[in-house]
Amino acid sequence: MQVAIDGPASAGKSTVAKIIAQKLNFTYIDTGAMYRACTVIAKENNIDYGNEQGILAAIDRNEIQLKAVDGGQKVYAGDKDITRDVRLPEISANVSQVSALPKIREKMVSLQRKMAGEMNVVMDGRDIGTTVLPNAEVKIFLVATAHSRAQRRMLDLKQQGIKSDQTLKEIEQSIQERDYKDSHRQISPLKKATDAVEIDTTEMNIDQVVEAILVQIKKSQKNI
Ligand code: C5P
Repeated sequence: MQVAIDGPASAGKSTVAKIIAQKLNFTYIDTGAMYRACTVIAKENNIDYGNEQGILAAIDRNEIQLKAVDGGQKVYAGDKDITRDVRLPEISANVSQVSALPKIREKMVSLQRKMAGEMNVVMDGRDIGTTVLPNAEVKIFLVATAHSRAQRRMLDLKQQGIKSDQTLKEIEQSIQERDYKDSHRQISPLKKATDAVEIDTTEMNIDQVVEAILVQIKKSQKNI
């Protein structure tokens, strides 16, 4: 079974996707972490974020892997654990440029489809329902106001112990810039799939969002 959860930055996708995967004993796949890993690999190898061939070659030398650990997920480039690096503000600021490169998307999408073909998955991202898994049994599109997403992002960074000099307003601006770039790129832009269920999480807590998605999953199981 495939559950696709898409939506703009910091809408709570990964938090709820992780919980749902745990409850159903499915594998959680954070596709954003894969594009973030490409960006970290570019940075560490001093490759320009627009250099598609250079980044592709570096990815070939440093295989990107997502490893499940204690309900969480670690991100590796080759044998290096880059779980923390992928969340750094510099990576967030540049990931949209890297993720817009056609050949990088081609490579990541093929990896994502391979994983989803081998097991039951909850996959979150921007183009899962539209491009990666167009036949997913359940498609969810999570939205929330930019202000509430910025508040969540600030809290997330704090909880992960990542220092950021950005004010709430600046975080809100950078989230909006990233959403703009992600929804205006040429290849598989951030967009709600026509058959996705939209959930506005602005006024909802995590449990309520999880519950709303589980209702959709149960509905789809009845239809199988
Ligand atoms: O989900 P997260 O915010 O970690 O994603 C980081 C970035 O990766 C997004 O802003 C977007 O540029 C890219 N991304 C994408 N397609 C996906 C998932 C993420 O282009 N399926």
